[in-house]
Amino acid sequence: AKRKGKNTYQFFGHKLNERIYRRFEIEKSLRRALEYEEFKLLFQPQIDTITHAITGAEALIRWEHPTLGLVSPGEFINVAEDSGLIVPIGKWVIREVCAHIKDWIVARIPLVRVSLNVSPRQFQDENFVDYFTQVLSETGVSGKWIGVEITECGIIQDVQYAQKTITELRKMGIAIDIDDFGTGYSSFSYLMDFPVDKIKIDQTFVKDLHLEKAAAIVKSVISLARNLNILSIAEGVETEEQSKLLTSFGCDEQQGYFFHGPVDKGALIDLLTDEL
Ligand code: C2E
Ligand code: CA
Ligand code: CA
Ligand code: CA
Repeated sequence: AKRKGKNTYQFFGHKLNERIYRRFEIEKSLRRALEYEEFKLLFQPQIDTITHAITGAEALIRWEHPTLGLVSPGEFINVAEDSGLIVPIGKWVIREVCAHIKDWIVARIPLVRVSLNVSPRQFQDENFVDYFTQVLSETGVSGKWIGVEITECGIIQDVQYAQKTITELRKMGIAIDIDDFGTGYSSFSYLMDFPVDKIKIDQTFVKDLHLEKAAAIVKSVISLARNLNILSIAEGVETEEQSKLLTSFGCDEQQGYFFHGPVDKGALIDLLTDEL
């Protein structure tokens, strides 16, 4: 039994080493990932609840690491936040999204708004708005084709500063979406303090939608949004049942595997042009 125990220990030890190695490798090579052009964006369509037409797409980053393979943002965004690398990575996302939109305008692809995820650290960076302004003017893309998804904790630090930033982004036509709505502790005060365009109901609520409690919460959030003249979108919609419930609650938009997973640029263009 002892020997078995030892083997088990070694097994876990091996797994642990692997995880530590992976983390080490991620930290070490993240710095060069931008330079080596190892990032790419996928796009997940967002659909109108009533017409099922695509109304927007969320840009989701992927890292194609030369030896580790595809690394998901769940594994490296935290590392990037801690090291401050999230700021240059975030700038790359802004440039990349605007460059894609510019290409789509030239190719006469019917456009939808592309929303990008903004980390707290990036949002608080003093050059954030200026950088956005610069890239929009360089690419000739209007802010009306851009949305930013900010989590509640992303704006917690300095309310006045966040208000100023949000107001400036909205002046450019950029939409402000509150990501992971309801998972923080002060969701309502955000709605008081910040002019937002859309709230994104977190997928943890959508996953539990078959439960009475979760359904009641989601229903209330949707009518709250409606009363405040804010759009609502649900993320992580995986089943027809979830989608139907959200539709019956009056949720404006939906996003999830039930409709489309995140797809590459070419597949998004196909989806957008197929609709015609
Ligand atoms: P998020 O913003 O909450 O994005 C939703 C996550 O759910 C995405 O994972 C998406 O691929 C996944 N998802 C989409 N549909 C479904 C579904 O039907 N069911 C389930 N279970 N999951 C679904 P992903 O792409 O791995 O991204 C994870 C997180 O990483 C994102 O969470 C976001 O916080 C962050 N992230 C992604 N791209 C960026 C980026 O460019 N910049 C920053 N700062 N963060 C990013
Ligand atoms: Ca998001
Ligand atoms: Ca989420
Ligand atoms: Ca999130």
